Amino acid sequence: MIAPDLQTATAALRAMIENSERVVPFTGAGISTESGIPDFRSPGGLWTKTQPIPFDVFMASSEMRDEAWRRRFAMEDYFGKAKPTRGHLALASLYRAGKTPGVITQNIDNLHQAAGVPHEAVIELHGNTTFATCLECAKRYELPDIRDRFEASGHAPDCECGGYIKTATVSFGQAMPEEAMRRAQEWASDCDLFIAIGSSLVVWPAAGFPLQAKKSGAQLVIINREPTDFDSIADLVIRHDIGDALAPLIAH
Ligand code: NAD
Repeated sequence: MIAPDLQTATAALRAMIENSERVVPFTGAGISTESGIPDFRSPGGLWTKTQPIPFDVFMASSEMRDEAWRRRFAMEDYFGKAKPTRGHLALASLYRAGKTPGVITQNIDNLHQAAGVPHEAVIELHGNTTFATCLECAKRYELPDIRDRFEASGHAPDCECGGYIKTATVSFGQAMPEEAMRRAQEWASDCDLFIAIGSSLVVWPAAGFPLQAKKSGAQLVIINREPTDFDSIADLVIRHDIGDALAPLIAH
């Protein structure tokens, strides 16, 4: 059912949440646009401006590693200043109320944690761009340190072990994090309400989770201002602004 208007949508969503024991929210870039971080696929989104650098290209070329870091520093104006949105705050309220085990997210912006969901309750399918790690020894690096070294030498710095340092994100062509995938599969198949929020649901394997939840017997809600390929199997489709749709769930 596509909710005819915002008021019907929020009332229906609230009722579904109240009638559920275990709610699993699944978020994409759309939940963060209100914070100023652009998404990938909206008109004017990041995808329309620059294609991402695939993992094999990052590994093969020092120029592309430099380019990857240049782009990341340019994005700091967005990521560095972003604050949790009404959507993030609403999901943090659901977590505190014991309605949800946490959030499965495709986002890399750390905003669920900033809204108060503990780190261990956020399943990050695509990693986190607010810090970096060595691809060889997994040592953690903070971005201001990398930036200082980049600006001093003009090049992406390497780890003391010789490995390449990359933001702690999962690039196209890079292996998905096994533990995160395993936990997300577990949550998707063990909930009675699954809410996909702000995702075009085209990036696989992440997009498979709404389907898995539905097949496991959960009700499915999709909140996205544009249609998705999964709308036809959803129990409720809310084609409105995410902040407007979720704001009534924020506990004050
Ligand atoms: P996407 O860009 O493919 O889709 C986002 C969807 O959200 C779009 O369909 C858009 O219509 C909708 N949307 C945007 N703002 C909205 C709003 N305020 N209200 C309602 N709908 C809104 O994003 P995706 O499906 O998450 O896939 C993109 C990939 O890029 C993900 O893997 C993600 O990791 C990454 N990404 C992350 C961020 C971030 O961390 N904030 C930003 C851009 C891209």
